[in-house]
Formats: sequence, structure tokens, C-alpha cells
Amino acid sequence: MRDETYPFVVQPLPYDYDALTPVLDAATLTVHHDKHYKTYVDNLNHTLADYPQLQKKSLKELLGDLDALPPAARKSVRNNGGGVFNHELYFASIKCPVGQAPEGMLAQAIDRDFGSYARFKERLTQAAITQFGSGWAWLVSSREGRLSVTQTPNQDVPDLKEFTPLLPVDVWEHAYYLQYQNRRGDYVDGWFDLIHWKRVQRRYEELMA
Ligand code: MN
Repeated sequence: MRDETYPFVVQPLPYDYDALTPVLDAATLTVHHDKHYKTYVDNLNHTLADYPQLQKKSLKELLGDLDALPPAARKSVRNNGGGVFNHELYFASIKCPVGQAPEGMLAQAIDRDFGSYARFKERLTQAAITQFGSGWAWLVSSREGRLSVTQTPNQDVPDLKEFTPLLPVDVWEHAYYLQYQNRRGDYVDGWFDLIHWKRVQRRYEELMA
């Protein structure tokens, strides 16, 4: 995750809007990136405009210690800052659905901590489809490199003091409803083909370095 600070800028998608078809069509991706994600960026900047003392902090610093924030800013940073953090990681964690599979030390850690890739896929899918209402499912790593799957509601991030988020799946309806309507399971199943494993692997390797 880049250590950007206020004012936050909308990061362009690292691929074309139609690059993820047929899993995610251009209309879905356009609304998700250009409207939903952008709104979180705008709202976060709007809030931080009133707090010069927060403007030098990275997103990770802001989100890693919400209790330290001025009470009047806390809710907006949690929701909008979380929205920025989560979406930047999400869009950067997927790519066109061709030939992706975990390799190297991450593949070994998946086998060690979940039993197999198939078991991992089952666990993350289960977390994604059982997250009640809006939220996220995650592959995260402890500081020691132990992998686990977790869920967060709304735009909450995993506990950044304990865990490094490696891979998020957005299960807000805005991520899939235009294309899949209520079929969240079909969206999640397709999303697995988009995972940019090389990038996820790099996050894990940087953590372990
Ligand atoms: Mn989203």
C-alpha cells in the first residue's frame, strides 16, 4: 500500500474498464471505480480539510489507530478512509482472467495454513457469501506470516496492528449487483479467476522479508 497522504487522489484503474470481462463487465467496473470509490476519496478529503494535524498521516496510520482521532472525524475516517484503503487494494488485486495461480512461498503458506488451495478457496468463499449485508472478506497475514481468512462489515479494515491485508473481496452489492443481481456466490466464484496472484505474492514476500 502506498504511503499517500492528504489530499488523496483517485488512483486510475490499472487496466481497461472492459479488461475483466466476462467476470466483471465495463458498466459494473465503471460505476464501482468512478462513482463509489471516487466518492470515498472525495468524502475523506472533505473531512480531513478541517484537520491539519491529520493531513500528514498515511491512510494506514489513520486507520490503524481510530481511537486516537478527534471524535468528530472518527466516523468519517473509518467509513471513507476505509473505503479508499479497501478499494485501492481491491482494484490492484485483480487483473484480466488469464493464467493466474499462487506460487512460491505464498502457495506453500496456503497449503500449510489451509491444507490446500481448494480448502482456502472454500474458506474465503464461505466468508464472502456469509458476510451479512455490506462488507468484505479477506485473506490476511499475521506478523509472523500465518495466513487466515476474516470478514469486516461496511468499510472497516482488518485490525492493522495485528494483520497485513493481502487480498480483499468486496461483497457490497455495488460491486456486483448490476451484473449478477442477487447472485453473490456467482460473482465470488468468477472473482477467483481475476486474482492477481503475483501481486498478492509480492505483498506476502515483502512482509516476510
Ligand atoms: Mn466497493
